[in-house]
Amino acid sequence: MVGETTRPDWLSDAYTVADGPEQADVAVLMPGTPVEALDATPLTAHGALMPVINASGHSVSGALYSVPSLQPAALAEAIGVARPVLERLAQLPDIDALADTEALIVLAMAYSRQTPLHASWDFTRPMVVRYAALRGIENPRALLEELAATELLARERFDCIHYCPACGGSRLNVREECTECRSSDLKPAALVHHYRCAYQGPESEFLRGHSLECPKCQRLLRHYGVDYDKPGMVFVCGSCGTENSDPAVGFLCTDCDRHTDSEQMDTRTWWHYAITPGGVAALHRGILPHLSLEASVARGSVGYWVRDFITLLRFQQAQARRYERPLSLLVVRVHNIDAISDTLGGRGLSQVFAHLVDVLSECLRQTDAVTARGQIVYVLLPETPIAETEAIARRLRHTTEAVVAGPMEITIERTEGVDAAAAVLEALTG
Ligand SMILES: [Zn+2]
Ligand SMILES: [Zn+2]
Ligand SMILES: [Zn+2]
Repeated sequence: MVGETTRPDWLSDAYTVADGPEQADVAVLMPGTPVEALDATPLTAHGALMPVINASGHSVSGALYSVPSLQPAALAEAIGVARPVLERLAQLPDIDALADTEALIVLAMAYSRQTPLHASWDFTRPMVVRYAALRGIENPRALLEELAATELLARERFDCIHYCPACGGSRLNVREECTECRSSDLKPAALVHHYRCAYQGPESEFLRGHSLECPKCQRLLRHYGVDYDKPGMVFVCGSCGTENSDPAVGFLCTDCDRHTDSEQMDTRTWWHYAITPGGVAALHRGILPHLSLEASVARGSVGYWVRDFITLLRFQQAQARRYERPLSLLVVRVHNIDAISDTLGGRGLSQVFAHLVDVLSECLRQTDAVTARGQIVYVLLPETPIAETEAIARRLRHTTEAVVAGPMEITIERTEGVDAAAAVLEALTG
């Protein structure tokens, strides 16, 4: 029960009214309650997955069912809709007790509602897209893409949306602009073509009072179709006066004011996501198969989870400092994971990750350690002098080029010493 002001008597007689979300099965948004009241509930899986019955009188995206007013019959009908959802949720393991809580919430939402997680327009957000069902998960795009990359979710295209290269936002004003000065102050003008001398220009150049006179040969233009015609329009720039027959297209970011020419703009594809049979199986087990580059790398023969890698690195850093031992690191950046995922799909991305992990296993020694975070792979080479590090980096570069360079854009950077270790620690813990 969210919003207590107008609880009718019959409600407490017919239903048990819970004190907080942890005891409740469904949330009823009471008449007149602002939508934000829902977001005040703490994010547990139980709270996030609880069906919301909207009797607030406002439109609430993400509500399971809306009733026009809180009447016994309407509420009974809404609870009838919620019942199968609750039954499906009851089959699931206790998500709050498991790792990957947010990912499992996403899967449980799609599974319990038996409907895809729909993207929709929301111009209150810079990205202009929201997933209304995923209330409480901030920016779920990366998570949804990871789940799609391992085929726990299947994507269906929503739209391709331009974004600002400076701030990443998509609240953009798309404008026709002067090709010379990029002003959007363009005024359309009819183009007049004088047959006799072949001069052509905007109508304003020909106007003398109410008649038309050619600015080149000074003859009067009397009859349309005989003396002259109007072959089209031009756009005259109010700022610099240039006549644009074909104005440029430019984008002005309404969030950060950055202007970008259309050729420099990039787009992001947004998707709806439906749970796959593999996703249903993973959800019931409560365990996700390898998701990210981090998970792929961690499962390799020299791979570690970030947490364990940090412990190792701290130990090696202390050793290197105390006994003045050599310590080297390689930073391998993958620049185009999104693009690979877009072109090759989830299975393709997993394969590319797997190839990269094979390369790492092949090129490194059993005493080396690897982890990944985001799009960066970190390689720890203990007790390794610079010359040997360079040889390993070369071998890695060479082999990645041979094996994964087609789809994957990679750079490998070599660093050494206690300070380099500190920088990597900061990147991994920050
Ligand atoms: Zn911007
Ligand atoms: Zn003329
Ligand atoms: Zn101009």
